[in-house]
Amino acid sequence: MRVESPQSADRRRDVVDVAANLRTVRERIEEAARESRRRVSDTRLIAVSKTHGAERITSALDAGHRVFGENRVQEAEAKWPPLREVFPSVELHLIGPLQTNKAKTAVAVFDVIQTVDRPKLARVLSEEMSRAGRQRDCFVEVNIGEESQKAGVPPMEADRFIAECRERYQLRVRGVMCIPPFDQEPSPYFALSAKIAERNGLPWVSMGMSGDYEIAIAFGATHVRVGTAIFGPRDSR
Ligand SMILES: *Cc1c(COP(=O)(O)O)cnc(C)c1O
Repeated sequence: MRVESPQSADRRRDVVDVAANLRTVRERIEEAARESRRRVSDTRLIAVSKTHGAERITSALDAGHRVFGENRVQEAEAKWPPLREVFPSVELHLIGPLQTNKAKTAVAVFDVIQTVDRPKLARVLSEEMSRAGRQRDCFVEVNIGEESQKAGVPPMEADRFIAECRERYQLRVRGVMCIPPFDQEPSPYFALSAKIAERNGLPWVSMGMSGDYEIAIAFGATHVRVGTAIFGPRDSR
């Protein structure tokens, strides 16, 4: 048997109450949905567990939560298969940038790919899904604030790229995903993302994080990606 390290003793006295945080976030989602006259069931809460270890994630699973997001393929590949054995109904979303050489692993590890942002990636994903005999729901990531450091297709090119993903690559594109500029009022960006999804006949919009998920719901988010408000602060990396 392993000797218990001081860190694991600390973690048992975890200062972050994941179950309580989940309840709070769910309540706020319900409230935001009510205020905007939307159905609560139309918004999915993605618990973003990147950087967090199995113990904190297990607290969320034990509290009944099943939908999670990770931003790195390798990290998810290491963390999730053992958890899935215990909780087979987990639904895992990739919300971070995807390199084509990791597409095969991504198709194996994730249920939903939210970051399709360029033709080469669309092509490789399509090939890997056919090879694996496993279609995955996808989102097209839109660089909604047209920021040079961010991934995503520019809003002006979104319609054409969505059509290309669907028609040429036969991807099951179900929605649009965006991360608005960090230091600006997000509403106009949320509104534009919802509009792009609507005019392309896409049912889903993934937008809103810990600081702005209620606003995102008011603008039609069907998937909110919440990390810090559930799992506590991350070590910077
Ligand atoms: C980390 C991350 C989130 C969650 O951010 P919080 O502010 O911790 O809620 C949401 N979306 C993406 C794409 C992320 O990388």
